[in-house]
Parts: sequence; structure tokens; C-alpha cells
Amino acid sequence: MSLADAPVRVRFAPSPTGALHVGGVRTALFNYLFARRHGGEFLLRIEDTDQTRFVPGAEEYILEALAWCGITPDLGPHTGGPDAPYRQSERKPMYRQYAEQLIRAGHAYYAFDTEAELEQMRERLKAAGNAAPQYNYVTREYMHNSLRLPADEVSRRLDAGEPYVIRVKVPRKEEIKFYDEIRGWVTVSTTQMDDKVLLKSDGMPTYHLANIVDDHLMRITHVIRGEEWLPSAPLHVLLYRLFGWEQPKFAHLPLLLSPDGSGKLSKRDGDKHGFPIFPLDWTDPATGQRSSGYREAGYLPEAFINFLALLGWNPGTDREIFSLEELAQEFSLERVGKSGVKFDKKKSIWFNQYYLRRLSDAELAAAAAPFIERAGLTVPPDLSLERIVGLLRERAEYLTDFASQGRYFFHDPTEFDEKVTAKRWTAEGAAHLAALHDRFADLPDWTAATLKAETEAYGSAAGSGLGQLMPLLRLATTGLGFGPELFELLEVLGRERVLSRLAAAPQRLGVPA
Ligand code: GLU
Repeated sequence: MSLADAPVRVRFAPSPTGALHVGGVRTALFNYLFARRHGGEFLLRIEDTDQTRFVPGAEEYILEALAWCGITPDLGPHTGGPDAPYRQSERKPMYRQYAEQLIRAGHAYYAFDTEAELEQMRERLKAAGNAAPQYNYVTREYMHNSLRLPADEVSRRLDAGEPYVIRVKVPRKEEIKFYDEIRGWVTVSTTQMDDKVLLKSDGMPTYHLANIVDDHLMRITHVIRGEEWLPSAPLHVLLYRLFGWEQPKFAHLPLLLSPDGSGKLSKRDGDKHGFPIFPLDWTDPATGQRSSGYREAGYLPEAFINFLALLGWNPGTDREIFSLEELAQEFSLERVGKSGVKFDKKKSIWFNQYYLRRLSDAELAAAAAPFIERAGLTVPPDLSLERIVGLLRERAEYLTDFASQGRYFFHDPTEFDEKVTAKRWTAEGAAHLAALHDRFADLPDWTAATLKAETEAYGSAAGSGLGQLMPLLRLATTGLGFGPELFELLEVLGRERVLSRLAAAPQRLGVPA
């Protein structure tokens, strides 16, 4: 069956070299959406042929990150399946036969050149004015390879176990032309291409060989990947042709650019502008360096996914809010743009706020609870987290905000806003607080309404107003100069806690100014 008639099958093929970059997650997401939209399959393949770049824990990280996003690959190392194994390192013995198949067909060759010889070649060409020397149709003529050396010498070297690589013999002066579903026709002349290594001297395939052999064997219908792989596509198209295999369709997603548009979005941009670049926290096992992720920064996965989907894809309308389910219904490659997309931190917060607001207080409390615990805080047994988040939610941008902005719910304030203290903590202010303390202690019930009425009544008797009394009450009970509606806050904090904080104010705030 031709691939054109085959059921849609796409893959996400990360190399386990560290944490997933947001760009990688977007590639996974678009592949997933495409598969869902077409009732096809989404496969995860681990491209771990470069042993020097292998990082322990990276594969687990990738699966955990995808799971957090709500994206579960249909097939992959976690499931097994008809084309298993899905880790290229476990498929190693298979690739050599394909490289040798190309040699037999005259499309590839053994190359015995040592590193020193390659270096000499490059130096010579540079000296002759060639800025980017390559092993190609010209150079191959005078290097140590099976195209040039006599057959018996090649056999001798192979039998003697001399190290070699297998290189593709890129045909001279041909045009490689292919259709990219996002960019349209792409044409590259083979004069610009070099004889890439297909099989390395350690017997491992290079990315190019393993990638196309697996895409072929796994019957991948569409290769959807980042623009950084576009330069490799002509070689891949050529390899399909040399193998005599039908090629999948290609779609290269636009680059994600730094917020100022200056270049490719990097971890440094994230550090500089203060946003995560990875889905989950990651600690580099080699350096111990920690990098923050969207999950730990307090994003909801729904918000992250929605935001990410619109980095490169658009629905063709002004609509911005999409669930994963809705995205899977709407997604199409025709609506993916070619030009790079600037990363917009503010927009990511906008999405997060939107999704935070959609949660009920109970849902929000459940989502915020782990963050409160992680901040080392515990909800006092007499307080309800649901009510706390209910009060704080209006200002919250991240799930982490409940801990950082609401510390006073979890323990007595230890720090007091300096400006507010300087302005409000006067002898008169202290006297007002002491009086309010006594009046609050006698209240028949403890509700926002009675607290407010009592404060007003006291104010008019004492010649003061809410504008003066409220900041004082807030300062003494929370340490802050702003926050949620004060009387509701006092109601939630409860009588005992409020009275004890008011009573402790002179001791905590010091001698009034
Ligand atoms: N292993 C490549 C990567 O790390 C896969 C690129 C592709 O999808 O062909 O992204």
C-alpha cells in the first residue's frame, strides 16, 4: 500500500540529551494533534544513537513531560508494539545492513580516512580559498575510500579490522526537489551537499540513516518537525530515492524566536526574561544545574498547551481558547505559518490566568495544595484552603502565587511592609488598633459585614475613617499594604487569629513613629 493511502502515522523522535525545550514540546503537540485529527497514530521514538550525548533520565523526563501535557503517545518504548524496539540504540544491528545495501547498489562507500587526514584535507582546501571544505564529489576523489582504492586493498583493510565509516555518495549536479506541507516546494542542488556519514566507526548509524530507516520501517506518513531539520531534508529525500523507498510527506514547523525576535528561543532567553523554557523542572545530572519548568512555575497544563498550540498555528479566526480536544478537531498543517514566532511571556500568563479563573474554588484548592506544601507551608487545621484561594484567586497568575501572596494565612506575619509601616504605624494608629481589638473581641458574630460595620462605627466615633483604619488592620494582620478584600480576609482568618495579631502588633511593629 502506498503511504498516501496508508493510515496517518506520525512520530516524535527526540534525542534523550536533556530536558525538552518548549519547541520540542510544540513539535510533539502538533504531531499528536495531527494524528488525532486524522484518526491516526502518534508514535514516540527515542533517537539515542549518539552515545556521547546520552543523558540518564532524559527519556523518563520526556514521557513525564508529555503526560503532564495530556499527550500520551500511542506507541513507544513505554508500550512496545509492532515495530518495537522504539529506542534506536536497541535497533543498532539492523542499520548496518541498510548502509551495506546502499554500498552494493553503488550509492554509498567505505571511507577509511583518519581524523588527521580529514583535517589535512580541510586545511588544504581552506588554504586554497574554500571557506567551507566538505567531503564531497570532488574531495572523495583523493581520499582513502572504497571508490578510489583498489578493491583488494579495500578488502584487506576491512579484513584487518581498520576503522571506517560508510558515507553516502551524493550524486553530482542534481536537483533535489520536494514539497513541504508548510513551505511549499524546496529545491536544493546536490553540489551544496556533502557525502554525509551514514554509519559511524563504532557501528552506530548517524541520525540521518537511523531516522529515515525507521521512518520507513515504521510506515511514517508525515514527518512533522522543527525548522532546524529543514537543511537535513534534502539528504533524507535523496536517501529515500537511493533506497527506492516511498518518502513520507514533510512539514517543517516555524522556529520559535526569543521575545525580542533576535534569534532562536534559547534557555538563556528564559533566564533573562524570567520564564521557563522546559515543561518540567530539570536538574542536569552532569553539572547539577537546575532549570525551571512550566509545571513547577505554576502553569496549568491546559494553559500551556493552548498557548503552545498558537505558536505557529492559527485557527483562521480570532478565537484563542482551545482545549486539547478542540485543538485536535481544528488542527491542520495548512494553518501553520512559515515565519518564526516570537515567544510572548505576557501571553502565556494571560492564558494561565484564564484557565485558573475557570476552576472552581475547590478545584483551584486541589491544584494549589502541592505548591503550598512545596513552599514548606501547611494550611492550619481551622482554615479552609478553598476559602483562601477563593480570596486570592483574582490576583493569581500562577499556582505558586497562593503560597507567595498568601503567606499570612499559613503563619503570623514576620515581615511588615516598610512604607506602610512608616506611614500608618503612628501612636494614633496604634491606639486605633488597640481599640478595634477590644471592639472585635466583643462582636457577637464574626463575619465580613459585622467587622466592617464595627470598624465604621468605631471610626465615626473616633474621628477616623475606613481609609485610615483598613490599611492599619491589613498591616497588623498580614504585614502587607495590599491584598484581597480586607473584611472578608479577616473573616477567613478567624477571630482568634485576628485578635492575637492585633494584640501582637506593638511587639512586632515596634515603637510607633
Ligand atoms: N532526533 C531528532 C531530534 O532530536 C529528530 C528530528 C526529526 O524529527 O527528524 O529532534
